[in-house]
Amino acid sequence: MRSLLCSLFLFFPVASMAAAPPVTANHPIAIVIHGGAGTMSRKDMTPQMEAEYRAVLKQALEAGYAVLKQGGESLDAVQAAIRVMEDSPLFNAGKGSVFTHNGKNEMDAAIMDGSSLKAGAVAAVEHIKNPIDLARLVMDKTPHVLLVGQGAEEFAQSQGMTLMPASYFFTQHRWDELQKALEEEKKNDAPQASSQHSYPGTAARGYGTVGAVALDRRGQLAAGTSTGGLTNKYYGRVGDSPIIGAGTYANSQSCGVSGTGTGEFFIRLSLAKSISDLMLLKGMGVVQAADQLVMHDLVDLGGKDTGGAIAMDHDGNIAMPFNTEGMYRAYIDTHGKEVVEIYQDE
Ligand code: ASP
Repeated sequence: MRSLLCSLFLFFPVASMAAAPPVTANHPIAIVIHGGAGTMSRKDMTPQMEAEYRAVLKQALEAGYAVLKQGGESLDAVQAAIRVMEDSPLFNAGKGSVFTHNGKNEMDAAIMDGSSLKAGAVAAVEHIKNPIDLARLVMDKTPHVLLVGQGAEEFAQSQGMTLMPASYFFTQHRWDELQKALEEEKKNDAPQASSQHSYPGTAARGYGTVGAVALDRRGQLAAGTSTGGLTNKYYGRVGDSPIIGAGTYANSQSCGVSGTGTGEFFIRLSLAKSISDLMLLKGMGVVQAADQLVMHDLVDLGGKDTGGAIAMDHDGNIAMPFNTEGMYRAYIDTHGKEVVEIYQDE
């Protein structure tokens, strides 16, 4: 009997090793996040508001990093970081989302796993507290990539999520902004135009979408993005954030990307996937590839002030280009160095 057990053990060594951490489980970890690009400069901010923005970015960053440090997956880290920003009224995602032309909050989100190229996304959801969590459920629990509107919300309920009343997402600042945009439209007899908005408590204007890219101990990348879209957008309009390859993309062979800006341009450029393609097909580094898309292709197509992106490769190299005056951004690199930045000259 003893020899039988022995030979079984010798015969199935792989099975007994399967529970052990993979050999790459000591890969350096890193995380990068953004809270939107825009025309933010020091004169637009009180020191107090600036401190508040930096504090939420830091909190989000550290929530994601804590997951990675404990050996958790990059997907979970991305979700943890984005959830913090969705719960803050300072950013245009979850609570604090902007209003559509007809006075509703319609939110989009996506998450992608760079190890499997699996992805999940939701668009035009109105009652989901943390759209990034619903995107993850779409990825994990359905054969689909993107669910929209009522179908997405019914799916959320089937997974035990509680729908929030519209009042949860209401913020006076965003409402006033919509009224301003509507007045402007009437005054100029202009066709309905979606627009950037000002960041609460500041004179800075911008986008406010939030996103994260993380690299875990297995060396796997994940990326996620969550947004309320653009102020005064047509109802039913879907931006780039939940479109895999446009505002969100991850491939552990190349990079993870999350974008912020005028979504229509990101969609038309397949911006996030194009960064990955330049790396894989042209051998570019992540900084050069992200720069090409954000500082050149995006500017050529849409002009300046169209947005920015965060990107990270499988070695933890980080790119954060933006063609606007600033971008809320933060990272902890593979050396554990923590940085929180807003302005261009930081
Ligand atoms: N990219 C988002 C959209 O077009 C907006 C943003 O970045 O704030 O929906």
